[in-house]
Amino acid sequence: MPAIAQVEPLTSTRALRGPFDYRLPEELQRQVGVGSMLLVPFGRREVLGVVVALSESSDIAEEKLLAPLRALALGMPAELVTLAEWIAAEYCSTVARALTLMLAPGTARGAGPLIRLVAGLTTAGRSLADGEPNENQPRLTERQLALLRTLLDGPAVASGLPGGAAALRRLADRGLVELERRAVPRRPTHLPVGVQSAQAPRLTGEQQAVVDELSGVLEQRTSARRLLHGITGSGKTEIYLRLTDETLRQGRGAIVLVPEIALTPQIVGRFIQRFGDTVAVLHSRLSMGERHDEWRRLRAGEARVCVGPRSAVFAPIEKLGLIIVDEEHDASYKHEGDPRYDAREVAQARVQSAGALLLLGSATPRAESYHSLPRMRLARRVDGRPLPRVEVLDMRGANHGLHPRTIAALADVRRAQGKAIVLLNRRGWANFLSCRACGQVWGCPHCDVALVLHRGEGQVACHHCGHREFVPERCECGSAALARHGTGTERVEHDLKAALADDRFEVFRLDADSAGTATPSGGVGALLRDFQAVRSGVLVGTQMVAKGHDFADVQLGVVLDADATLRFPDFRAEERTFALIAQLAGRVGRGGEGHVLIQTIAPRARAITHAADHDSDGFLDGELERRRELRYPPFSHLIRIVVSATAARSARIAAATVHQRLHAPDVTVLGPAPLFRLRGRERQVLVLKVSDRPAAVRLVDKAISTVSRQRSSAGVNFSVDVDPQ
Ligand code: ADP
Ligand code: ZN
Ligand code: ZN
Repeated sequence: MPAIAQVEPLTSTRALRGPFDYRLPEELQRQVGVGSMLLVPFGRREVLGVVVALSESSDIAEEKLLAPLRALALGMPAELVTLAEWIAAEYCSTVARALTLMLAPGTARGAGPLIRLVAGLTTAGRSLADGEPNENQPRLTERQLALLRTLLDGPAVASGLPGGAAALRRLADRGLVELERRAVPRRPTHLPVGVQSAQAPRLTGEQQAVVDELSGVLEQRTSARRLLHGITGSGKTEIYLRLTDETLRQGRGAIVLVPEIALTPQIVGRFIQRFGDTVAVLHSRLSMGERHDEWRRLRAGEARVCVGPRSAVFAPIEKLGLIIVDEEHDASYKHEGDPRYDAREVAQARVQSAGALLLLGSATPRAESYHSLPRMRLARRVDGRPLPRVEVLDMRGANHGLHPRTIAALADVRRAQGKAIVLLNRRGWANFLSCRACGQVWGCPHCDVALVLHRGEGQVACHHCGHREFVPERCECGSAALARHGTGTERVEHDLKAALADDRFEVFRLDADSAGTATPSGGVGALLRDFQAVRSGVLVGTQMVAKGHDFADVQLGVVLDADATLRFPDFRAEERTFALIAQLAGRVGRGGEGHVLIQTIAPRARAITHAADHDSDGFLDGELERRRELRYPPFSHLIRIVVSATAARSARIAAATVHQRLHAPDVTVLGPAPLFRLRGRERQVLVLKVSDRPAAVRLVDKAISTVSRQRSSAGVNFSVDVDPQ
């Protein structure tokens, strides 16, 4: 029996890296394995740790090998420990931080199972409740008899029964009922649990061909990757369902990643409908307890399919056969905290070690996936309808706001009592305020960015740090004349209400502000349901309106200021813009005629002309050519280092020192360059273009550790983002 456990303590301190050796007491040696969770003495504290390896002996002096205090019931599968080590190395983080991602939800805060008093019938109780005649039958009241009968369906939580625990205790005293304290699952009540339906539609020829090929791949049980490049409405979800079914039939489990569940409730519903309790859902809008229990069901093997956002890639499923990433282009798959992992890459690492299939699906795949994965096409919508006609409206020289064609088209929709979606990727009322007299722009006191006007609240807000203040009455120069520049969703909502709304045509707004109060039953979900339910109206919003909803009856889509996203200083700006327009077009004309209008001052931009032609192959081929020339991903990897400090000078010096340490043959370094001040910290940014990513990550890790130990680096923060979004 290995007597030594190598334990990684789960602290977030970067400098402190395990593992540390602990002698296992006799009684723990049998229970503990790689992935077990232990509470261990650490300094003067007791911390949570994960066993990353076991050994017979240790080099550490015997008296220092402290015995662990206690083992927790819920460890993680050993495979996830290996994955955590991979993540730490790949994303320049620590094993402890990576392991923290994989814990059962709420572990750090002591979340555990919900223990309740549960009542069940004894044999005597059962025969009595069944009404079998019995000579020396105890005399019961009508109520007691009724209570026994409700237990005929199976054990139940005592507090939920009439009379409660007291009534049950009296029955237990007479040997009719058994009472036991045990864990009861908290099943998320707002999900359609357990309504299983076998009704799978007949596949189209295109779908069938894809399912056949991928079933063959699953059959081989070796790791493989595919891209499912299917236009919007081509029935990708049905393919996911069939493959999941196939995987379960093989005795293996599946993970289905979706961008944001609040925005795409349909796909979760369809998995639950098809597979019932075999599906566990892990998403942030469930309570901690509910997520904890869903995790336990997966860990225990009761649930074999996990549907959830990015973090569901860590679902504790053993014998994994399939990982699906729906809408693989979505930016939410990249995690913004440390470790800055990309769920699509983690998925790839997982399928490789499990011998599983990774399927990425999208109508607008990333250039990276399009370039490097074997692809399968779905070129037709399931209902046979064509994609909507797209018209580009040139806004050069025009006033901001709505083009006359747009106004006319919206009026047509109202006249026909139909529905429209208007997309503008900027929330608030006006982009920024300036003084007409002296030209001052109202900026955030903590960040060097303009404050956005939110007229409804009479406030201006920083979209980076959340700072808010009331709209100034006058400028410091004394002038009361303020100019408003640019337009946001709040303004468009207001204008459309003024121009079009009546009791037969409603205007809705969906953006991070209107969804701020989002809960599973309210917020985004309710808003979308209201829009779905209303007979006629228009939905205005940010990119949220273009996500995977399946509305049957939207006949007009409008994109305002389509080039807003193009102006982002990011090599993915064109890809994002193309995807946004194509995805919006995908919501339009399902089940009827469709039409899309794009307002832009860059009508010749590649992203816009190709989106208008529904030509994603053409767009991606051109995009790849450009990236090859500029040596951007997938022809290189980028590593972004942000150095920040409250004093500009400290940040500059530290960035320059890091820069000096980054010389290597295959590494190109851009910067350091100043980045706008954020949350009161001055920032400098360095970007590396590299070919050998792991080698470059090691180089960066070493440079930063060295520089951060220097005296001049006191109070300086370093953050590393490998392949940033
Ligand atoms: P995508 O994800 O590719 O945009 P969906 O999976 O949402 O498309 O499918 C669009 C619609 O077509 C859904 O309502 C779905 O139920 C339906 N559907 C999918 N496959 C079939 C089929 N073979 N026969 C009939 N309807 C189908
Ligand atoms: Zn002024
Ligand atoms: Zn700010």
